[in-house]
Amino acid sequence: MTTMTTEISDRQLVEQEIGRRTTQGWLVVSQTEHTVQLRKPRQWSRLGLGLFVALPMFLGLFYPPLFGLAILGLLFVLVDYLLRREQTAYVTADELRRQHTSQSAGEAVKIPDGEAARCSACGGAVRAAADRCKHCGKTFAG
Ligand SMILES: [Zn+2]
Repeated sequence: MTTMTTEISDRQLVEQEIGRRTTQGWLVVSQTEHTVQLRKPRQWSRLGLGLFVALPMFLGLFYPPLFGLAILGLLFVLVDYLLRREQTAYVTADELRRQHTSQSAGEAVKIPDGEAARCSACGGAVRAAADRCKHCGKTFAG
């Protein structure tokens, strides 16, 4: 009897992972049938730009001294950008298959995602040290 997991090829697992990651801003560096290497370039903090730059500039239309706050905010967001690092990831089909297998068994696993991790069951961001998902409550295997 064949199970679901054996029907999914390494290539398909890798393609699925690439599909998931590219929607999150990851770029494929190199790819084989069994592995994929990705990188995620530094990104500006959209929240920071909105909150500390766009908002004070808008309010500055009514109260001009706030334009100064927008300039400070821009410096703040620039420093934040410079402190960010490009993330890299190396994923093998074996890892993805293990995740897939435990997923079918009703468990979740942590998928390393830069300095943090993701829950394989719901995709929510979790701490790398977490032993259960704060979003869906599943316990992490391994
Ligand atoms: Zn979850």
